[in-house]
Amino acid sequence: MILITGGAGYVGAHANKLLNQNGYKTVVFDNLSTGHREFVKWGEFFPGDLADREQIRHCFHTYPIEAVMHFGGVAYVGESVTDPAKYYRNNVVNTLNLLDVMREFHVSTLIFSSSCVVYGIPEIIPIPENHPLRPINPYGRCKRTVEDILQDYEKAYGIRHVNLRYFNAAGADPDAEIGERHDPETHLIPLVLDAASGRKEDVKIFGTDYETADGTCIRDYIHVTDLAHAHLLALQYLTNGGSSDSFNLGNGNGFSVREVIETARRITGKDIKATPWERRDGDPPVLIGSAEKAMNTLHWKPRYHDLTTLIRTAWTWHKK
Ligand code: UDP
Repeated sequence: MILITGGAGYVGAHANKLLNQNGYKTVVFDNLSTGHREFVKWGEFFPGDLADREQIRHCFHTYPIEAVMHFGGVAYVGESVTDPAKYYRNNVVNTLNLLDVMREFHVSTLIFSSSCVVYGIPEIIPIPENHPLRPINPYGRCKRTVEDILQDYEKAYGIRHVNLRYFNAAGADPDAEIGERHDPETHLIPLVLDAASGRKEDVKIFGTDYETADGTCIRDYIHVTDLAHAHLLALQYLTNGGSSDSFNLGNGNGFSVREVIETARRITGKDIKATPWERRDGDPPVLIGSAEKAMNTLHWKPRYHDLTTLIRTAWTWHKK
């Protein structure tokens, strides 16, 4: 059985669905602080908090857990700057709780949700995995710290792991059974769709004077179901004896904020109002990842890579 922490959240829920479709048994461990109970449509649900080691132990006692996918944590870069304690506690200390219980129960396979924020301001585009890790905010430092911890835990305790460094997760389950829902929402594509459906009056463009072709930031958007696939492949890789490693998950190409808005206008048929706004602190102009390593080693092949498909699946979910 596979334990999925944070499996009621956006990426975790998509991974949970895919694992079940591929014959795996799963248990989702989630405190529903940001996740949604109705996203856990597959496998077992174990309500619990990673802050509480006893609850984690109880879960490991109840189910025959063989491997862990760890999505649980908090994920707002801005909030991590104003409330770093919340981030170090939830994302680092609680991960230690999980790792210690894994050790107690002799579970030594872990897939960790890392992020391209570990790189900080990129020096090379597309970013390779061996790019220096110089995160520029507490959220990124938490991710890097966990990657460091995992390296030490592998050496000392044999916890084999894969760090999956996501670029911009986007889109929704092609069957529209689950999708993206954050409160508050800060991500570009759902906010653009909020403006399309009239839930919001407009979408702000954070910075129009970047040194990019149209002056707006460029990001590497990767479909959430493709991310889910990478988790499944990473699990199979470790199960087949693969060694611990880190992999970027992106498409290797980027789209600007204006391109996202233009594509959303075309797909939704709505006249989405876009208002130029000031830059958001800490936004690098361009973030694009090289995912060749994941393609070569994990045999990962993103399927939903064009922006139209990404936004169309998000829109179908959004309308629901
Ligand atoms: N963005 C924007 N308006 C918004 C939200 C985001 O212009 O209301 C921009 C943001 O500055 C970044 C890109 O859209 O360049 C993607 O931002 P998002 O928050 O979705 O993901 P991030 O890149 O921060 O992980």
